[in-house]
Amino acid sequence: MSVKKVPFSQAKIEEITKSFPTPFHIYDEQAIRDNVRRFLDAFSWAPAFKEYFAVKATPNPAILEILRQEGLGGDCSSLAELILCEKAGITGENIMFTSNNTPDGEFQKACELGAIINLDDITHIEFLEEQVGLPQLICFRYNPGPLVESGNSIIGYPEEAKYGLTKEQIFEAYKTVRDKGVKRFGIHTMVVSNELDTAGLLGTANMMFDLAVEIYQKLGIKLEFINLGGGIGVPYQLAQQPVDLEFLGKAIQEAYELKIKSAGLHPLKLMMECGRMITGPYGYLVSRVIHEKNIYKHYIGLDACMANLMRPALYGSYHHITVMGKENQPCDHVYDVTGSLCENNDKFAIDRSLPQIEIGDLVVIHDAGAHGHSMGFNYNGKLRSAELLLQADGSVKQIRRAETLNDYFATLDFDCVTTNLAAAAKK
Ligand SMILES: *Cc1c(COP(=O)(O)O)cnc(C)c1O
Repeated sequence: MSVKKVPFSQAKIEEITKSFPTPFHIYDEQAIRDNVRRFLDAFSWAPAFKEYFAVKATPNPAILEILRQEGLGGDCSSLAELILCEKAGITGENIMFTSNNTPDGEFQKACELGAIINLDDITHIEFLEEQVGLPQLICFRYNPGPLVESGNSIIGYPEEAKYGLTKEQIFEAYKTVRDKGVKRFGIHTMVVSNELDTAGLLGTANMMFDLAVEIYQKLGIKLEFINLGGGIGVPYQLAQQPVDLEFLGKAIQEAYELKIKSAGLHPLKLMMECGRMITGPYGYLVSRVIHEKNIYKHYIGLDACMANLMRPALYGSYHHITVMGKENQPCDHVYDVTGSLCENNDKFAIDRSLPQIEIGDLVVIHDAGAHGHSMGFNYNGKLRSAELLLQADGSVKQIRRAETLNDYFATLDFDCVTTNLAAAAKK
């Protein structure tokens, strides 16, 4: 059983709401830095270990800048994500461009930035060649197909996933690009997601080490790096345990020594591209209770909604809730905690035992630092909230303002609307 705490007191967060009205996301800078350092430390044995933060988790340049300072790169899969990295000073081979079904123009930008290009399909060799020409360094994304087992554990159902090349295609692909003059090669896979069991993560490493050896034996190609993808999970539920990073690092090290060193492939760079575990537990959605409703069930209405955090509605995910100032009170009330969308799944919690809640209470939703704000949308005319950074010195900085009605109307070809908005909003 773990305990979920918030990195601020009730007085402090109330003070913050005076400058920044709820709802907002707030990220804990020091906790993000400490977590990253621990992660890198667990893999410090690996030759030139590099973690590429999956930008989609928290696409904010202020966060990317912190991660860059800690030595991370960025894993991008769209034009906007590439530009976010560029703005945060992450360029060159510090960017991994892992796109799929890649639109026109995105390979150009990635190549212009000198990013590592990770191709999702064998036909993309030609597509890339036509669009920009082949770079010196090429990576391919591997999809192992059905029921790959490592020891006793089955690592996902990759045959159902749209990503990557089959094993047959992998060999053909390296041969093809080598014949076309490519000199440097990497390989990538991503078969687990939100995984808390080290067996699945270790299984991925074992599978990729075997493949690297096979590529060397069949084609004589010595890969420069293996990217094991992301997928380290977040213990959203109190009963879950975080991944033991030190244990995982050691276990992968043993597999590396056994498979890579003995095959004469050392030094082979290891990479990962985790997103969720880097920022997820260190972001909080702060919201205020605006209504309480008693019908067949007992509802608590927040000023936040699915636009701020979709995971509970989308996946039925558990997100822990703290009612500020009531941390030590008994959880003797059962509530559905809702947003204001005209969608009955707009709920942050269903049948949750919580302390007695009153209108005006501040409610903090945990583990909202990844796939939280970034998944937000404007359905029902809801506006996305601000993002704040709780800095290492305890001060708070706004790193993204809340959307306004003007933002909402900005894309409409309807001139007279915008001019009246300020007046409408003031009423
Ligand atoms: C989403 C994604 C990641 C990050 O996954 P996490 O679960 O956040 O670690 C890494 N690589 C690719 C290609 C992804 O799509």
